[in-house]
Amino acid sequence: MNVPLLDLVAQYHGIKDEVLGAVMTVVERQGFIMGPEVGQLEAAVAALSHTTHAVGCASGTDALLLPLKALDLVPGDEVITTPFTFFATAGAIHNAGGTPVFVDIEPATFNIAPAAVEAAVTPRTRAIVAVDLFGQMAAMEALRPIAERHGLALIEDAAQAIGARRKIDGTWRMAGELGTVGTLSFFPSKNLGAYGDGGMIVTQDDALAERLRRLRLHGGARQYFHDEVGFNSRLDTLQAAVLLAKLPHLAAWSAARARHAARYTEAFAGHADVCPPYTDPANDHIYNQYTIRVPRRDALQAHLKARQIGNAVYYPLSLHRQPCFADLGYGPGSLPHAEAASEQVISLPVYPELSEAQQQSVVDAVLEFYS
Ligand SMILES: *Cc1c(COP(=O)(O)O)cnc(C)c1O
Repeated sequence: MNVPLLDLVAQYHGIKDEVLGAVMTVVERQGFIMGPEVGQLEAAVAALSHTTHAVGCASGTDALLLPLKALDLVPGDEVITTPFTFFATAGAIHNAGGTPVFVDIEPATFNIAPAAVEAAVTPRTRAIVAVDLFGQMAAMEALRPIAERHGLALIEDAAQAIGARRKIDGTWRMAGELGTVGTLSFFPSKNLGAYGDGGMIVTQDDALAERLRRLRLHGGARQYFHDEVGFNSRLDTLQAAVLLAKLPHLAAWSAARARHAARYTEAFAGHADVCPPYTDPANDHIYNQYTIRVPRRDALQAHLKARQIGNAVYYPLSLHRQPCFADLGYGPGSLPHAEAASEQVISLPVYPELSEAQQQSVVDAVLEFYS
């Protein structure tokens, strides 16, 4: 059975009228730049994230870049981050003028290890960028005190985790709520995906929100008057309209992903070769990816491909080992948990519309390989 990794066409068929109506409203109005849908989406996402501000921008990458730029980094300034993430996390640090300092992950959750963060702080450290990988939040309750103690900005890259939450001291905290900023991506494959690129920054900080709104518009609070040099990084109005139409479905979609994840984990239980993802009991995981660890990963991948089972390896080369960061001097074995993960992980289809029969064929194909 052909099972794609993600089926956005199936999703579209379920919401076609709502989305096309929203798009046509913008088209009929011919107001494409910073139309009312942008502010409406910002208000809705701020409410979802329990923050006082949300600032739309052009992508999840820019959602990282703008707050890093707002730190006014100078050469030699260090930003501590995880090497086991999408490239944008570290690329944005570099492009903002900082030096990425990679520290190892917790093998169970794949998220940055707070103790390793603490150990890496130097007088040049300016910020921490944590990632809520695959849809479960990093240990924000441990990272925040480290940031506060050392006077660092804490950026929570929640590109894969919109609507995820973590119970801290008995209270549910949303992805993006506890950092200096939280950053979101609306790349089509995220749980809330646009019909193109888009991103958003959430924050509780009034002054920072104002600065970020300037930075996305060439640094000028008033058009044609520029306090600083910024970017053209607006969230497109058409994308905001699509996202507003899709947002009411997000909770149900993420719940369907979590149900599929539970069914996989049950099906793989007792099979020694397949290690299902660990969910920290404090976390409400939104499963942007369902990622298992396996031996002979590349051979399993070929086996699944031959059976038309969609899959992907996120991520095959840890960022500290990327050629572009070779000058940072991280040798093989320097961050062993991240390196092991990059050799063992494979993500399986977990999109909301996945049928039971499709899921069964994924399970059968995986277990057949190890039988
Ligand atoms: C997708 C993603 C980004 C970048 O988002 P874009 O919208 O594609 O620019 C950044 N960080 C992580 C962890 C991501 O998964």
